[in-house]
Amino acid sequence: MNIALIAHDRKKDDLIQFVTAYQPILSEHTLYATGTTGRRIIDETDLDVIRFQSGPLGGDQQIGAMIAQNEMDMIIFFRDPLTAQPHEPDVSALMRLCDVYNVPLATNMGTAEVLLKGLEQGFVNWRLIREQRG
Ligand code: PGA
Repeated sequence: MNIALIAHDRKKDDLIQFVTAYQPILSEHTLYATGTTGRRIIDETDLDVIRFQSGPLGGDQQIGAMIAQNEMDMIIFFRDPLTAQPHEPDVSALMRLCDVYNVPLATNMGTAEVLLKGLEQGFVNWRLIREQRG
């Protein structure tokens, strides 16, 4: 599975804590991240991450392009709901594409836990979801 990890600045500590806790599951998959988020994951965990541009510089759109090409299977995006983002249109576009292509999207730690536990225990038919998108 190709999984994208993104966190707004005030949520980055939460994401690091989350990916550290789920490192054994995440390490079995191919991970992508926006620039600054990816840098922190690489520096602070043992996970390998393919980094895109920073979010405000187009990283969200790069992940969106992968969704449109049916190359992304899950998005974990810890958004900051209390801070205005200069690239809000990109954030909205990314979430919209998840809905267009039925890509599972977690925007907070609670949902992210459910998604990763589902992934771990294999109770979601990911192949079916992927085929429906194709
Ligand atoms: P960043 O981008 O990981 O480069 O900080 C995240 C975002 O704001 O979309």
